[in-house]
Amino acid sequence: MVERMLGLGKNSSVIRELFEYGCRRKAELGEDKVFDFSIGNPSVPAPESVRDTLRRLLEETAPEKLHAYTSAAGDFSVRQAIADYIAKSYNTSAEAKRIYMTAGAAASLTITIAALVNEGEEVAVPVPFFPEYSVFTENAGAKLHPFPSREGDFQIDRESLEKAINEKTRALIINSPNNPSGAILNRESLATVSQVLEEKSRLYGKTIYLISDEPYRELVYGDTEVPWLPDVYDNTIVCYSYSKSLSLPGERIGYIFVGPGVKEGDDVFAAICGAGRSLGFVCAPSLFQFLIRESLGKTSDMQVYRENRELLYKSLSDMGYEMVKPDGAFYLFVKSPEADAYAFSKRAKDYELLLVPSDDFGCPGYVRIAYCVSTAQCINSLPAFRALAESYGLGGK
Ligand code: PLP
Repeated sequence: MVERMLGLGKNSSVIRELFEYGCRRKAELGEDKVFDFSIGNPSVPAPESVRDTLRRLLEETAPEKLHAYTSAAGDFSVRQAIADYIAKSYNTSAEAKRIYMTAGAAASLTITIAALVNEGEEVAVPVPFFPEYSVFTENAGAKLHPFPSREGDFQIDRESLEKAINEKTRALIINSPNNPSGAILNRESLATVSQVLEEKSRLYGKTIYLISDEPYRELVYGDTEVPWLPDVYDNTIVCYSYSKSLSLPGERIGYIFVGPGVKEGDDVFAAICGAGRSLGFVCAPSLFQFLIRESLGKTSDMQVYRENRELLYKSLSDMGYEMVKPDGAFYLFVKSPEADAYAFSKRAKDYELLLVPSDDFGCPGYVRIAYCVSTAQCINSLPAFRALAESYGLGGK
């Protein structure tokens, strides 16, 4: 047996653990008595058009075609439609032959890292970051190298980035809008990323890739811009997923896009095909590939997230909790009132509040609140949040 796999299987992530605890607790106390903010499972349904399109596809397409294998990289008409959509949306060039359909962002990232990163190399990432990046990187025999982001707003800190990129670095992962902070990297941060990666690529005589993990691209509040990263840095690979934007996390559908400026881009794409093959990630679910072809540009209704964000940000700030107002995604990243976020999360459980401690995001001292839940849950949880704040003597209104 492989020890590493045994360890991964036995020790589920802290998010999953809390989620499972929440399921057990709800069975004991009742659904509405437990305020589960643990997991990023969208509560907003997929748009009505998703059901309509699925029905139509099922009725109008011969089953032996609809459920057949597509080519390993995905059905060409689907890839062409996505390429056209990218070209039009970002006023850029995009080719179908550079798009690889995947079973969601987790598969997109696992494949991309396996394709680009050699054993013994490093993948840099600003904190806080999605904890599974460590797992995906270690799969490739490589090491994740987290580095601090700017205090207060989670933008890129040039000095920390420069220090983190060394002769072993093969890639930098950026996730904007970010899970768990909700921060969106601004133009200044992205210019820093591009300058530092170009300088360091020259210095070490190798290509350092930018991997853009984008499951929250469309989840933006207000008019904050989410720049298209292949325009910012040539050697960019986009890892996209429809899990959040179309509320389809269980269906496992997304893609990898090798940007037009990527050096030896056709070979990079071939390596992605090779990694997909070696990991068994060939032919993403066919029915959902065809659904995506018909759903480009559509998203779930984000209004509930908008309301939850306003409500929780204002109410929790009034109670004395500290946090940065998120610009995107559906998470609040709240400072723990005591240094040990595990202890805070444990105490929150006494009030039936399930909040994820931030240590596994590489950034101790916070908890993550996933507010992709019903607004009723947010409203009903407020007395518990208040009692928890009072137990710490926070000076709220
Ligand atoms: N990357 C980030 C930042 C995420 O938050 C998630 C899921 O929550 C993923 C990747 C994985 O997404 P998917 O469900 O598309 O595999």
